[in-house]
Amino acid sequence: MPLSLDLSPLLAQLEALGAIGAEGPGRGRTRLALTDAERAGRDQLVAWMRELDLIVEVDQLGNIFGSLPAATAEGDREPLMMGSHIDTVRHAGALDGCYGVLAGLAVQRAYRAAGIAPARRLVVAAFTNEEGVRYQPDMMGSLVYAGGLAVDDALASIGTDGSRLGDELARLGYAGEAPCGFLKPWAFLELHIEQGPVLEAAGVRLGLVRGVQGISWQRITLQGEANHAGTAPMAFRHDAGYGAAATVAFLREQITKAAPGTTLATVGSLSLEPDVINVVPERATFTVDLRDPDEGQLAAAEAKLDHFLETLAGEEGLTVHKARLVRFAPVVFHAGLRKRIQGAAEALGVAPLELTSGAGHDAQMMARIAPSAMIFVPSIQGISHNPEEATDPEDLALGAEVLLRVVEDCLALPLGAAP
Ligand SMILES: [Zn+2]
Repeated sequence: MPLSLDLSPLLAQLEALGAIGAEGPGRGRTRLALTDAERAGRDQLVAWMRELDLIVEVDQLGNIFGSLPAATAEGDREPLMMGSHIDTVRHAGALDGCYGVLAGLAVQRAYRAAGIAPARRLVVAAFTNEEGVRYQPDMMGSLVYAGGLAVDDALASIGTDGSRLGDELARLGYAGEAPCGFLKPWAFLELHIEQGPVLEAAGVRLGLVRGVQGISWQRITLQGEANHAGTAPMAFRHDAGYGAAATVAFLREQITKAAPGTTLATVGSLSLEPDVINVVPERATFTVDLRDPDEGQLAAAEAKLDHFLETLAGEEGLTVHKARLVRFAPVVFHAGLRKRIQGAAEALGVAPLELTSGAGHDAQMMARIAPSAMIFVPSIQGISHNPEEATDPEDLALGAEVLLRVVEDCLALPLGAAP
């Protein structure tokens, strides 16, 4: 007899967690990583884990793990991990991250209700600082867990408010003792809202995530020379503002419109100095955000931009300084797990849509150390990172149901087998 997923505790917990850090009507909730509001969310999550009689462990970066032990010691050595994050951006919705964590608890609850000890240890993880609002980089907890960043470097991070991450972790009582990476997952599954409009537009209720696009962030400074807007002839100018504007136009015309058209480029921050109407700008500082699901295309876009800046600097008499802020290669999720998700969805009468995630997620970090995959449910009007973020409860139910079926499918495999 298949296990059954009880939807009402999942919806009730989403609402209760969503009330923590609430900012008032229409203003969502704010639980930035390692603030007092986020601690209240952590405390609530840990209380729910204890209600299910899970083994609760916290690692050195404050990542929280709730484990339902396996029937055998061998099964404990091959944990199947689900999870996401419970920190938020400012004025957030209630679903981003929290849905994946609480749906994991719903799966564990199904096993508890049936009185079944799973063949593999079932773990739910809530990773620290996924959003990266207060401390950078984002997806920090899972990145450190997967060995991509040293714990000490992460603990030494200084926040936008001048706080040190390690101090805040200790202050909140979440500086755990387990070494990061202490549970090596046999597989990792993340259920998440899409945070984009693709599923809704296609009229499909479930997304099978093929992978996560790569991301390249740079801060570029062009240094020119300030001069009088009325007396300096055009040919004598070293106009950093012109250089910045030319770069924005280059990104649009030569990179994002070039075949095959998967590259995205954004200059989201731009400032000029001295920022005065009648002075030729001496300095322009701007960011470049490049994304592509294909590493070759992403690297090609970066190389084209480098070449463009070099040529521009020569022609305009500017100097260029580039600082790399973030660089993550694209991730393709595990083919075997994707097939299991496809099968689970089809068994429930739903043909999932395969899509690439435009946003970063903890699963892309966990993919470094374990077979990993993601399931998406639609976001109404594609809205996320916004108090209006919403998903039809029936779709929330479907996503959790598919997660449970994939877990059952995985647990039916013999120990030692690959997912
Ligand atoms: Zn998220």
